[in-house]
Amino acid sequence: MSDSTEATDTEVLDGLGLANQIRAELADEISQLVAAGHRAPRLVVILVGDDPASRSYIKGKQRACSRIGMESLEHLLPESTTEAELLELIRELNRDDEVDGILVQLPLPNGISAARVAETVSPEKDADALHPITSGQLMAGTAELISCTPLGVMAALDHHAIPMEGAHAVVIGRSNIVGKPVSLLLQQRNATVTMCHSRTRDLASVCRSADILVAATGRPRMVKADWVKPGAAVIDVGVTEVDGKLVGDVDFEAMLGHARLVTPSRRGIGPLTITMLLRNTLHAYRSRKNI
Ligand code: NDP
Repeated sequence: MSDSTEATDTEVLDGLGLANQIRAELADEISQLVAAGHRAPRLVVILVGDDPASRSYIKGKQRACSRIGMESLEHLLPESTTEAELLELIRELNRDDEVDGILVQLPLPNGISAARVAETVSPEKDADALHPITSGQLMAGTAELISCTPLGVMAALDHHAIPMEGAHAVVIGRSNIVGKPVSLLLQQRNATVTMCHSRTRDLASVCRSADILVAATGRPRMVKADWVKPGAAVIDVGVTEVDGKLVGDVDFEAMLGHARLVTPSRRGIGPLTITMLLRNTLHAYRSRKNI
């Protein structure tokens, strides 16, 4: 890590470039499977309601699937769908041997429990890795399907050869989808992990002790330069719309010349998250079919 008086050459993650590299590897794997006489893997995405952001996310996921030779199907259900109807559709997809990964786009309308939905998706097809069994396996260190955004964070750190062993990693945010799993993954790589949240006292000074700082709060530009140790690796997971623009949790410009690595809010962790959904679906297919 650099001296505090010295300017640092900051590496900026090219999340799209790294995502394309990983997607090319997945595409290669799929074409080999198909050449060997197997069908292509299939992801099913369910969207309940008409949230425009969610619609655009699932379009992006479909495009990503077709580019690597993975099939994708979408179920667009009306806002009026009941929890019982949604759970029945999930059970049907669980039974369908031609379906390898199931993703239910969040957020769900009021009246549908995201926890019950997560528990209903078969752990074998749990592309989003939200089932309690999948989370338990992550905790035990035996998980094959792992939450997509945390996997993307780890891919970014590895791509930039950020040392994790013995490093102090601070994760801001403790959600089941980002904060908790990324903390476990960092710990599995022998980082010493501190998990922070909205009740953490003197968050800035905790962050200043981090070699690796992961921000996943949805609080725009909360992390300033004086929260970051010079030469630290800063991963910005947050995405919030402010005045029609997407803004991260980190003051990106302030990190340039200060951090060793920073991830931009556009073309940063987002494309890696989608890529890991494809990775999980392919993985689920291979392991269920034993191929
Ligand atoms: P949640 O709202 O579920 O969790 C936010 C976490 O941040 C909570 O643990 C909360 O603490 C903590 N937090 C909120 N405010 C503060 C604060 N002022 N100081 C410290 N901690 C705080 O969000 P998610 O984990 O689902 O997502 C986090 C962000 O990441 C969002 O912006 C989301 O859009 C983005 N995201 C981006 C993805 C991508 O692909 N790039 C994928 C998934 C999410 P507490 O628990 O105490 O309430």
